[in-house]
Amino acid sequence: MHVHTLIVGAGPGGLACARILAEHGRRPLVIERKEDIGAKVCAGGITWGGLIKRAPQELVEKSFPVQHIITRLQKACIEEPAPIIATVNRIKLGQYMARQAGEAGARIMTGWQVKEIHEQGLVIEQKGSRSRQEITFDYLVGGDGSNSRVRKYLGLASNKMGIGINYQINGDLPEMEWHLAPQFFGNGYGWIFPHGDTVSIGAYVIKTVMSAQQLQKNLIVWAGTQGFSLEKEQARAEYINYDYQGWRFNKSDKRGNPGQTGKADSQGRIFLIGDAAGLASGLTGEGIYPAIISGEETARAIIDDNHSTAVMEKLIRRHRLHSRLADWTGSSPALNLVAGELVTLGLRCGIIKFNKLEMAV
Ligand SMILES: Cc1cc2nc3c(=O)[nH]c(=O)nc-3n(C[C@H](O)[C@H](O)[C@H](O)COP(=O)(O)OP(=O)(O)OC[C@H]3O[C@@H](n4cnc5c(N)ncnc54)[C@H](O)[C@@H]3O)c2cc1C
Repeated sequence: MHVHTLIVGAGPGGLACARILAEHGRRPLVIERKEDIGAKVCAGGITWGGLIKRAPQELVEKSFPVQHIITRLQKACIEEPAPIIATVNRIKLGQYMARQAGEAGARIMTGWQVKEIHEQGLVIEQKGSRSRQEITFDYLVGGDGSNSRVRKYLGLASNKMGIGINYQINGDLPEMEWHLAPQFFGNGYGWIFPHGDTVSIGAYVIKTVMSAQQLQKNLIVWAGTQGFSLEKEQARAEYINYDYQGWRFNKSDKRGNPGQTGKADSQGRIFLIGDAAGLASGLTGEGIYPAIISGEETARAIIDDNHSTAVMEKLIRRHRLHSRLADWTGSSPALNLVAGELVTLGLRCGIIKFNKLEMAV
């Protein structure tokens, strides 16, 4: 089978890319290894300014005009007239985005995993039956998350990783809370994000600061101090890639011979989006917005060779700032402590706006 654009992964990035391509008459094919679209370890927080236009009100479980930030020395309460962050259920978001892409004309094959990639095509294998198919493509988009096979095919390392751990427990809470508690989370944070009748309790930190095992132990102890008993609950954890090294690549030389590693190339026909590109925030682990924006912009670049890269450049600038802050605060506990307190003070006094901590630009 030959397709114009093959998208690996039906996460928010891959589905956003598929929708735009399909709306412009290209019929992309999305390959998703899971049988059902949407399930993903996630706290489900979306920024109101950045994403609410793309995730309509009916998907919102709870929205919060007030954010509570708790540090060792301060309890800040940041309030804005419109909601700052809302929570969504990832399965509902995935199903909604898949419906939109499908209605526009995209094909989505679920239960198929990309097994091998080579210069002109790739091999997919069906879960269960293990039957295989070869697909060739004009363009390939890697929207296959932090452990991306397309990224590996390009030979790119993923050295900068965050760790996110989430517990989704029953409960109905009114407040959204961020806890900067370096003794538990290093330069990361613990969160309490209420959903409809459940609550996401979790923690994020970069891998160089703490192991996943240590983070989980600390999260359980910290949650106990907040009145939540997590010992018997199911933890779900994943790495979040923030090692951005480009989004459009070529792997062959000028004569068309395949090279060892992909090179960033403004005319290339292989793209990485979202977590596969390492576009999630190193500072907060926020990745839904960068995945959707990079997916949409990749589709536009495929449709029109002269499409401006301004939106991607803005996103990359914000990503770079977050990465530097994460690496900088991760390099020294003292620096991290001071930075956390100063940023919280700045937010309280209105000198720093909450949206500076978001990936939306
Ligand atoms: C604990 C935790 C909490 C988080 N909380 C938030 C939050 O509150 N807000 C936020 O914005 N971000 C959050 N994130 C990050 C966010 O979940 C990701 O950044 C986002 O999902 C990235 O989207 P994506 O489309 O790039 O990749 P993904 O959502 O990871 O989708 C990739 C898809 O590719 C498929 N796939 C992978 N390999 C293959 C293959 N070989 N063949 C076929 N299919 C394949 C996968 O099954 C998956 O469906 C959190 C992450 C974690 C771990």
